[in-house]
Amino acid sequence: MRSFIKTFFLWELLQGLRVTLRAFFAPKFTVQYPEEKTPQSPRYRGLHALRRYANGQERCIACKLCEAVCPALAITIESDVGADGTRRTTRYDIDLFKCIYCGFCEEACPVDAIVETRIHEYHMEHRGENIMTKDKLLAVGERYEAMINADKAADARYR
Ligand code: SF4
Ligand code: SF4
Repeated sequence: MRSFIKTFFLWELLQGLRVTLRAFFAPKFTVQYPEEKTPQSPRYRGLHALRRYANGQERCIACKLCEAVCPALAITIESDVGADGTRRTTRYDIDLFKCIYCGFCEEACPVDAIVETRIHEYHMEHRGENIMTKDKLLAVGERYEAMINADKAADARYR
C-alpha cells in the first residue's frame, strides 16, 4: 500500500525536484572564464621558460640533469664549450606534446635555469609548434622573469 501511494504521488520524482530546487537557489560557483579567473598557486606548472642572470648570461650550464630526469623524454639537449670556456647548450628543445608537466626538470636544475611558469593559456596552430626551442624558452623567460621571481619568493615562504 505504502509503495502504491509513493508511486501514485510520484514521490521519487518530487524528491529529485527538491534537490534541483535546492541547487537552483544555492550560490553559484561558475566562473565566467576567460573574463574571470580562479586563483593560481605560485607552484602552478605551466609553460616552460629558460632564465638568464641579471647580467644577461644564460643560467643553463648544460649539465643535462633535466634531460636525464624527465620521465616523458620530452627534453633534448646538445651542448658545446663556448669561446669563454663555459659549457652551453647549442640545442634545448622541449616537446610539449610529450611533457606531462611533472616539474621534475625544474626540481633537478641546480641553477634555476629551467622553470615552469604559471602561463597556461597557449596553443599551437601549426605542426612543429609543440617544440619549444631554446630561443622560444629564453624569450618566455625574459618576458615573465618578474612573475617567475615573485612566484619563487612566494613558494619559498610555503617551504
Ligand atoms: S615537466 Fe616533467 S615531463 Fe615536462 S619536461 Fe619537465 S621533467 Fe619532462
Ligand atoms: S636547464 Fe638546468 S638541469 Fe637542465 S641542462 Fe640546464 S642547468 Fe642542467
